[in-house]
Amino acid sequence: MTTSEKKSKKTVWDMTLERLDESMDLLDLSPGLKKYLREPRKVLEVAVTVKMDNGDIDIFKGYRVQHNTNRGPAKGGIRYHQDVSVDEIKALAMLMTWKCAVVGIPFGGAKGGVVVDPSKLSLRELENLTRRYTFELINTIGPKKDIPAPDVNTNSQIMAWIMDTFSIDKGYAVPGVVTGKPIALGGSQGREEATGRGCVYTILSALKVNGIDSTDLDVAIQGFGNVGSNAAKILHDLGFKIVALSDVSGGLYNKKGIDPYDLQKYHKENGVLTGYKKAASMPGEEIFGTNCDILIPAALENQIKRSNADSVKAKFIAEAANAPVTPIADEILDSNGKFLIPDILCNAGGVTVSYFEWVQGNDAYFWSRRKVNLSLRDIMEKAFYSVYKISKDRKVNMRKAANILGIGTVAEAVRLRGIYP
Ligand code: NAD
Repeated sequence: MTTSEKKSKKTVWDMTLERLDESMDLLDLSPGLKKYLREPRKVLEVAVTVKMDNGDIDIFKGYRVQHNTNRGPAKGGIRYHQDVSVDEIKALAMLMTWKCAVVGIPFGGAKGGVVVDPSKLSLRELENLTRRYTFELINTIGPKKDIPAPDVNTNSQIMAWIMDTFSIDKGYAVPGVVTGKPIALGGSQGREEATGRGCVYTILSALKVNGIDSTDLDVAIQGFGNVGSNAAKILHDLGFKIVALSDVSGGLYNKKGIDPYDLQKYHKENGVLTGYKKAASMPGEEIFGTNCDILIPAALENQIKRSNADSVKAKFIAEAANAPVTPIADEILDSNGKFLIPDILCNAGGVTVSYFEWVQGNDAYFWSRRKVNLSLRDIMEKAFYSVYKISKDRKVNMRKAANILGIGTVAEAVRLRGIYP
């Protein structure tokens, strides 16, 4: 963070509210409705008590925030990270609300997190933590109420433990309580790579509306976890060249391109990207200034900020991560003529296939991977063109256009349902 950004001490929640206020001003909303949309419906803090392998007891702070449930059950991932805070979870829950509305799926927004560095836990401790956190949320989550999914440092195994814990409490199997489950437990084909795939569909649409029909383009990606690695592989398969990649350990660059499949093998063995010999190493932050056509932040929030926004050379920025660009950086990128695909559109592929998983589970009828991917493509393209049309009609950038669509849709739902009592 830059000194001025640090000085202003704005959290991701402050920045999310700032963007919300700005977008609500573009919509014709009553002052009361504006107040309503700013507030999460429920903020739960829990003490996650875990018996550690050495026999000691440790306590981790956990959160679950439901921002809005007017259009359907709350939906959103669970993050395990040492920097999790209630403000971060509130912001991410709010983004989920707008995201579900942008892609037109009948969910509200939620997010959960535990303040923990999972790399410091054994597998047994990770399972104990997950089960205890689930137990603390047992009256909050549920297939008709609030449905968690994977996010940073959580995966299908963790979803399986959540499903098992919830099901034991109920006395019967409740697969619909989470999405992103293993296929053997009712997971969906294509969910694992859905966020990366959806991001790629939005990139292809963005290229198209900008008159580019070639895939002979260079790409840089921050983050090589679920989203970053899948986006890299799908783009590579389509003929794009992945020239730079970074993760928490550092960055890699190869002008001739990096094979993400080969890199993934290395990553599986070593747990990090650094040390990979088929590319030059570079400091992780340098990823943003990479000479390339498409830049994909796929790690954490607040990565492109005042201090580095001007160094971005890519014409296209695809926000695979949530909130990776600060509002000040938005203005800089805008004035430099960049085409930004905002998070609530760009990374909505994950929640879209989570929705397919929920539908398949409810119907007890499972789709082919082809059907999942085709349906995902339909939804992502429709959402992209709806946002793009608003951006052209209203003469606003893609972020504001996506907010107009997402916030406007939720505002209409709130207005129609009315305020109880
Ligand atoms: P992940 O845990 O699988 O991967 C995170 C990656 O980010 C790792 O490669 C990690 O090394 C890297 N990273 C962490 N801190 C970093 C830093 N300071 N600098 C550089 N790299 C860093 O997580 P994920 O599921 O791939 O999620 C990534 C982003 O995408 C998050 O913002 C998440 O909220 C968002 N997202 C995820 C999904 C999903 O389906 N998993 C859906 C929508 C949005």
